Amino acid sequence: MASDCLFCRIAARELPARFVFENERIVAFEDIHPQAPAHVQLIPRKHIASALAVGPDDQALVGELVQTAAGLARELGFAEAGFRLVFNTNAAAGQTVYHLHLHLLGGRTFRWPPG
Ligand code: AMP
Ligand code: ZN
Repeated sequence: MASDCLFCRIAARELPARFVFENERIVAFEDIHPQAPAHVQLIPRKHIASALAVGPDDQALVGELVQTAAGLARELGFAEAGFRLVFNTNAAAGQTVYHLHLHLLGGRTFRWPPG
């Protein structure tokens, strides 16, 4: 855990968040500034700064993030309609929190290309 990392502190429950899922490896919680009717952040408990820092030992962990996001999309009722999964990576993509997080967005229609 990185003690100066916002999402490490949320995972450790040192800071509040509305959790929607957790296990030994990952946690998921509602985004504080939702960009869709449903906007969840899925993160590993392990501190990984971004997609660029994902290593060979993290492959199962990233797969679990994606699989868990799909399961939440089904539970939340928008899997069939469609949803979006996003890893913003570095400044040009708008990454603001440097702890790997998978955005799960659903409950509305999304445009492509994104802004
Ligand atoms: P990104 O811009 O891809 O780095 O995404 C960071 C996300 O974290 C944004 O969607 C923020 O709204 C969200 N966020 C920031 N602080 C919190 C917090 N304390 N609890 C929940 N979500 C947060
Ligand atoms: Zn962290």
